[in-house]
Amino acid sequence: MKNTNGSKFDQDKSSKVLNDLKQASEADYSTSTAELPPPGGRISAITSNLRALGRMMQPGRPHRPVYLLLFVTNSCHARCAHCFYWRETNKPVQTLSLPEIDSLCASLGPMVQVTLTGGSPELRDDLPQIVNIVRRRCHPLNLTICYTGDLPEVIEAQVRESLEANPGLKLAVNISLDGLGSDHDRYRRRKGLFDRAVESVKRLTQVRDDYPNLCVGCGICVHGLNSDGAIATARWAMENLSLDNLSPVLVRGDTYDQDARNGDVEAFLEIANFTRDRLHSGEFRGYSTATHRLINAKDIVQKEMIAEIARGGSMPVVCSALHDTAVVYADGSVPICEMRDETIGNVRDYNMDLGAMWTLPEAYEKRRGILRGECSCWHHCFLSTPIVREPRLWKRLARHAFFSARKQSI
Ligand code: SF4
Ligand code: SF4
Repeated sequence: MKNTNGSKFDQDKSSKVLNDLKQASEADYSTSTAELPPPGGRISAITSNLRALGRMMQPGRPHRPVYLLLFVTNSCHARCAHCFYWRETNKPVQTLSLPEIDSLCASLGPMVQVTLTGGSPELRDDLPQIVNIVRRRCHPLNLTICYTGDLPEVIEAQVRESLEANPGLKLAVNISLDGLGSDHDRYRRRKGLFDRAVESVKRLTQVRDDYPNLCVGCGICVHGLNSDGAIATARWAMENLSLDNLSPVLVRGDTYDQDARNGDVEAFLEIANFTRDRLHSGEFRGYSTATHRLINAKDIVQKEMIAEIARGGSMPVVCSALHDTAVVYADGSVPICEMRDETIGNVRDYNMDLGAMWTLPEAYEKRRGILRGECSCWHHCFLSTPIVREPRLWKRLARHAFFSARKQSI
């Protein structure tokens, strides 16, 4: 055990909750999955969601994360110009096993948001089991999977299996599209990826016919190479794919290709505005959660805020890193956030108890630095929960929530 000297890390508590699962080996995981709680009905979902939201709405109090970005693999078929994770992709690492992910999720309890990302999550054969674990241990208000879209058949099968095993699961699946045709392939250095990504979206929209809780979206990264093309791609996707949502992302971090830095803020905002208008008009359904109006409204405000920060404004809310929002990389290391290299350790060294790591002295120290404003950025995941919690923004949120998704019926 690392760093127990002088730390508030409660080894007994962590061991009590997690020890049995920690003993499970990869080989006998079937025993462990048999012990997973059932997916639960509507009442247990509501109870879990309220508990997670209750935790989130306490701004000052240290609490376990409610928003998790879990890198399920670092394997990736692409080599994207805008990738901030490029130094780690395809490196030989010991990826978190199912029992380890189970222990991690058991330590967190109810969550607001869990995002499964990578690498290319479709390369992980056991992804549906990871979804089972997340759903049954954390019951998130929304679970998102970010795919490159490289393996349409695999993606369709994984999503179907996940939804079949977890009735009522609120699942959002995002397929990345940053350009049209060969432009997309060039940005991502993967021949034929555009066609396969589009095929993935089309297959997912068919899955949605059977599982209306599925929200099918496209993520469009606006970076230094595609500013004009990004708008055309967004328009094309809106007109040709039956999407529920579109998520523009403004490039950030230490990109693989230096020319990809400095995305055009105005292009990003234009795509964000199309999306807002479609959410208002009901042409986009947005998320399928019970609180979809609030989440859609949060997304709209978040995009406006990202543009304000990227134009040189200060962060209007305090970043949620080391507070609400946690990142766990494929090898278990826990960075402060996706933008900074420093880690607070590896969750494997803490019995997979991520919440316990939040109480480490170094985590407090780094959190204090964030509260003092030692860094600033527009990473959307770290703005999400503070936006919902900030009373100054409630009027703005309420206005968008009122207009958003009036035609939704889930
Ligand atoms: S941004 Fe591209 S290269 Fe980087 S992990 Fe994602 S899909 Fe792979
Ligand atoms: S403001 Fe940005 S760089 Fe600083 S901790 Fe938050 S996410 Fe990381």
